[in-house]
Amino acid sequence: MSEVERIAALERQVANLTLMVEVSKTLNSTLDLDSLLQIIIKSATELTNTEMASILLVDRASGELRFEAATGAEREALKTLVVPRDNSIAGWVVRENKPLLIRDVQHDPRFYRQVDSATGLATRSILGVPLRFKGQVIGVLEALNKIEGNDFTDEDVQVLTTLAGQAAVAIENARLLAELREQDRLKSQFITDASHEMRTPLTTIKGYLQLILDGAMDAEQQRTSLEIAARNIDVITRLVNDILYLQEMATIRAERVPVEMAGLVREVVAAAQGQARLAGVILRAEIPSGDLPPVSGSRKRLARALANLVENAIKFNTDGGEVVVRLREEASSLRVEVSDTGIGIPAEYLDKIFNRFYRIDSSAPHLARGVGLGLPIAKQIVEEHGGEMHVKSEPGKGSVFSFTLPKT
Ligand code: ADP
Repeated sequence: MSEVERIAALERQVANLTLMVEVSKTLNSTLDLDSLLQIIIKSATELTNTEMASILLVDRASGELRFEAATGAEREALKTLVVPRDNSIAGWVVRENKPLLIRDVQHDPRFYRQVDSATGLATRSILGVPLRFKGQVIGVLEALNKIEGNDFTDEDVQVLTTLAGQAAVAIENARLLAELREQDRLKSQFITDASHEMRTPLTTIKGYLQLILDGAMDAEQQRTSLEIAARNIDVITRLVNDILYLQEMATIRAERVPVEMAGLVREVVAAAQGQARLAGVILRAEIPSGDLPPVSGSRKRLARALANLVENAIKFNTDGGEVVVRLREEASSLRVEVSDTGIGIPAEYLDKIFNRFYRIDSSAPHLARGVGLGLPIAKQIVEEHGGEMHVKSEPGKGSVFSFTLPKT
């Protein structure tokens, strides 16, 4: 390298370092994820002297690799593009947790061509580096096409890796903040919904008590009014209990002890016989003979989940109907199934009934009206035990709610 080249290289390094300090300041002061991603791709192109840059992030829930930002591209158009992990440059970077430099992309089998069709640009060369946070690869930062046809250098790899290190921390912070804000929003929504739920029975109670106080009722009418008030107090009590239960679940993790499901099913079914008799519904359990392996978890919570399903199966049934609770062993789990011959659930409501406070108005006879927390509580318990909740239903014929629990 000649003296002139060395000085030019040094000047470039100083310029890059100055830019990096600026970028670092901006990254640390930006908490909005979209703006942050835009700043990162802009800095990536400036620092590596490239035409464009893009960011892919690993979806935490599904593990899919998705474009989150790219120079000149609409985020929405990119978002639908899931990049295969096995057959793409970004997938390679995530898997190997290493930078990857490809000078001639069009002849590399790892290049995922659909990206060019989505952005309308032709990729010639790519430098991809992992975005790492606490040792985990959370995504990939890519710089594409060196300007003036130059090749990527080792210095580019270094510069982009440094930027990726800072970018990953900033991205995680922004995501954390977004998550906290979402949790806060859900909490406020919950408080609003719960207050609304409380207001209706309170208004009813107040109304009937006022009628009694007004002195316009005979003894019989007074009695009926008090009965209605008492029933509405029960609704409020149930609501408060369910809210406290959700609160307990959010703060105390389920214990992990071996739970023998056959005994638990018998117990829950026995406890619900009184309710079934009152509703004119036959309730029985079908438990295979012989030993079943235990599951691991909290007996109390699992009993609560099953009791909620059984209670609904009785409540939304018809006089003379039937409820059967079956326990079955499957390859890697135990399955508990609650089937009823009740009113059933129209298909369009099947995914909604697990939302908090959701009830199908048309289906609930007045007395069966609950607070809409039974199913969300049951589902949450099953999921915290590593299981899954399913429902099948046919309006007018009945429903089958079932859940799995991993065998231990
Ligand atoms: P709640 O029972 O307190 O109303 P849930 O969360 O347990 O609340 O259930 C939500 C809604 O789902 C119910 O209001 C009802 O409309 C519907 N549902 C639940 N279980 C059944 C069932 N076995 N058959 C028919 N509808 C049901």
